[in-house]
Amino acid sequence: MKQTMHAFFILMSLLLLTACGDKPAPATGATQAPAGQPAAAAAPAAAAKTFEWKMVTTWPPNFPIFQEGVERFAKDVDTMSGGRLQIKVYAGGELVPPLQTFDAVSQGTVEMGHGAAYYWAGKIPAAQFFTAVPFGLNAQGINAWLLSGGGLELWRELYKDHNLIPFPLGNTGVQMGGWFNKEIKGLDDLKGLKMRIPGLGGKVLAKAGGTPVLLAGGEIYTALERGTIDATEWVGPYHDERLGLQRAAKFYYYPGWHEPGTELELLVNTKAWESLPPDLQAIVNSASQATSLWMLAEFEARNIDALNKLRSEDKVIVREFPPAMLRELKRLATEVYEEEAAKDPAFKKVYDAFKAFQAKNDAWNNISEQAYRKALNL
Ligand code: CA
Repeated sequence: MKQTMHAFFILMSLLLLTACGDKPAPATGATQAPAGQPAAAAAPAAAAKTFEWKMVTTWPPNFPIFQEGVERFAKDVDTMSGGRLQIKVYAGGELVPPLQTFDAVSQGTVEMGHGAAYYWAGKIPAAQFFTAVPFGLNAQGINAWLLSGGGLELWRELYKDHNLIPFPLGNTGVQMGGWFNKEIKGLDDLKGLKMRIPGLGGKVLAKAGGTPVLLAGGEIYTALERGTIDATEWVGPYHDERLGLQRAAKFYYYPGWHEPGTELELLVNTKAWESLPPDLQAIVNSASQATSLWMLAEFEARNIDALNKLRSEDKVIVREFPPAMLRELKRLATEVYEEEAAKDPAFKKVYDAFKAFQAKNDAWNNISEQAYRKALNL
């Protein structure tokens, strides 16, 4: 009955439109039937077309969850589109060097890319808010900010002049604080410490008297093992264990105050995006959200087994950072944001929005997630 009524209303609407001499406004040029032909018989050019795209990433080949997730996304898009949108994925260095992903997509050399926005901090300092903010939002909070709190609009505005449309595609959840060769008892232990730590976290470490060092994933183990650096952060137990960091340092600290919910990004070249018919655009959007969920689930499910192995088999000493030190680092982090905001209006705009959303999100979390966690541990 409901369906019959629905069909009746559609029919009535069409009759009314015909009677008025109007045509329904097409959503885009691609869905519009050529004049004088019935819509059903028209095969719009874009809908019949097969798109063969290239995608580059900042990740090593076979990098678990990260590169794995991107390949999963490409496969989903292929299946959901019935092969009309095929994306060939290249790991970092296979087609362009990892950190040229942004430029390659921006210039249209390839249609898509995957990485983390804080890699582009040199070009766009405010991009860092879309990856990881020390003492900022966790994965759940970032998701809320991006999808329901205006964050994604700010992100897209920031990339607009670079011919790029960003989409959230993955989140690592809270990372670990890192590997150290000595016990960390307070802020003084960070003075003079050479640590591999990227982004805003590195700036906070510098304020605390340490020296942030930038190293690609492949260089970390050797640098730590040879003492070129005193400490490093990487991702979490699942990835850190695979890198062998337990053989180069003894102390493994938590929490990852510097990366509380690292967001990953899908980059799409604006012109390429506009060439897609609406159904393929919807597929890309939905597949990116589905993969985001899968990636976070993988991190959440795999990390604890890896941590248990590090503890029991590798005899790693797992410690929590001293609360007094974290309080100080939080204070220094705010100083970093205020200084950066004073230098760059775009940074200030995103910072103000992020800060306002986090204040509300923290207030809600205090009586939801945190209160529940407290109840659980009573
Ligand atoms: Ca990290």
